[in-house]
Amino acid sequence: MNKNNKPILMIHEVYEWMLELDLSNYIITFDDGLYSQYKYLNHFLKFDTPKIFFISTNIVSPEQEEQNEITTSCSKAHESFFKTGNTANYMKWSQIKEIASTKNCYIGGHSHQHKDLRGTLALKKLHNHLKEDTDKMLNEFNTQGIEIKDFCFPYNYEAPLYKEILKQRGIENFFGQERIAIEDLSNAI
Ligand SMILES: [Zn+2]
Repeated sequence: MNKNNKPILMIHEVYEWMLELDLSNYIITFDDGLYSQYKYLNHFLKFDTPKIFFISTNIVSPEQEEQNEITTSCSKAHESFFKTGNTANYMKWSQIKEIASTKNCYIGGHSHQHKDLRGTLALKKLHNHLKEDTDKMLNEFNTQGIEIKDFCFPYNYEAPLYKEILKQRGIENFFGQERIAIEDLSNAI
């Protein structure tokens, strides 16, 4: 991604009220590969700044599946996926690839499983999980023909160990809680 000094905005699910905001001064990042991001893609393309879509490679909708046209919150979508495997709130690889080939748009990594690592996994176990999960993520992107240089930490868990493992595998740019949530922006208008 072309680095510049613009502030970085963080978007999860997309609601219609967000379409009222002027985002032309932001690099826009989209977390978790939610379908509502794809549904409103054309709107965001009006802003001439880089956009990065962070995908968890294990949470992608199968091509034949019908997607949920009603915006679902990111936490509800995750809950539903982790409980029942429901991927109706997420994008398909064909849609992700379409975004990847769109001007100003980039695909970034957001792990494979999107596991919550903020707990107390023993270091050895944590290390193994991070290596294994990162390799699965990179293999999947590779299979889909997508090269990634950007990564966003699930739950903004930014452990130095995690960053090191990712760097060793060619990831160059990292994103986490330094970003501005679009929900906070709306308070300012
Ligand atoms: Zn996430």
